[in-house]
Amino acid sequence: MKRRDFAFWWDVMMRATIGFALTLTLTVSAASAQSQKPTLDIYIVDVEGGKATLFVSPSGESALIDTGSPGDRDVDRIMAAISDAGLEQIDYLISTHYHGDHIGGMQELAKRIPIRHFIDHGPTVEEREHVEGFQQAYAELYSKARHTVVKPGDSVPIAELDWRIVSSAAEVLDDPLPGGGQPNPYCDRFEPRENTSGPENGQSVGSVVTYGEFRVVDLGDLLWNNERDLMCPNNPIGTVDLYLTSHHGLDQSGSEVLVHALQPRVAITQNGTRKGASEQTFRTLHSSPNLEDLWQLHWSHNGRLEFNPAGVFIANIEEPATIATILTTPSPAPSGAGRAPDHTGPGHWIKVSARSAGTFTVTNSRNGFSKTYSHRDREERP
Ligand SMILES: [Zn+2]
Repeated sequence: MKRRDFAFWWDVMMRATIGFALTLTLTVSAASAQSQKPTLDIYIVDVEGGKATLFVSPSGESALIDTGSPGDRDVDRIMAAISDAGLEQIDYLISTHYHGDHIGGMQELAKRIPIRHFIDHGPTVEEREHVEGFQQAYAELYSKARHTVVKPGDSVPIAELDWRIVSSAAEVLDDPLPGGGQPNPYCDRFEPRENTSGPENGQSVGSVVTYGEFRVVDLGDLLWNNERDLMCPNNPIGTVDLYLTSHHGLDQSGSEVLVHALQPRVAITQNGTRKGASEQTFRTLHSSPNLEDLWQLHWSHNGRLEFNPAGVFIANIEEPATIATILTTPSPAPSGAGRAPDHTGPGHWIKVSARSAGTFTVTNSRNGFSKTYSHRDREERP
């Protein structure tokens, strides 16, 4: 082989090697991009008028807000969502407050899956334990993991999300979030309400979660007057895409200073057949500027014909005969009439998948109905 030939073939070999290496690099980086899903997924689990909402970030980190009521029913349903998401641990468990429909499933859940970090507002402000022995059991659980008492303004460190605490222990956010801080025009006509539900609801840990252009608010069972404290005179949150209706849609929460100022495009109510989704809450939601759709975990006996959305938006529906009985009952159904038994089979969840560009899809797991809401600039809403 002449020297020139050797140089020629050497050059060819080097180019081929570099080309192969480059192709390999591109292939590997494409594969790792695929292994990270592009969505923030939110499972709104049916815990029959309690609360359990699972957030799974694009990086696979997870945060669960509340654990429903005591007993296997709710924990089974939470575990079904956890397994659908392919999780092997819960990175953060945020307990909004210590009522039984929010912390009831915690002890059983902790037996089934590792919980790495417990977050709450600090000690309960009510004497009565809503789940017997809970406080001691909770202290034992978090002593073996991490535990944080949060204040408004704190962040929950999940990659790619801006998870901000906006209320905790009856304190509220002072410094506005990006896009917030404007005077709230609904404050002038706010009418305070007497709290008839005990002080613990008003302690709720509230979160605003931002993923790129998408923003969702979840305030647990934060009460009517706390909403004024948070939202007046200036609105520190701005507008949101998704509102997880406060307090199951009971009329002790969900004032206009909150809902109309946040201008959610979609609201999802974690009601039970007879709990929450009250007429007042429906009126506020249906008259909220820019609300496009209302989704519910249950067909609401309280909403009757006038206010319930079409069945495609409701995850757990009644038998037609039950609905007929309720609709033809002259006064709001007393607790016996037309009563549907609690679910014994799987409860159906509502799932939200949001992209950082602001587009999000809501899916009803009962019937497969889904709807995609394309990005709309929050600051430019009419
Ligand atoms: Zn509750």
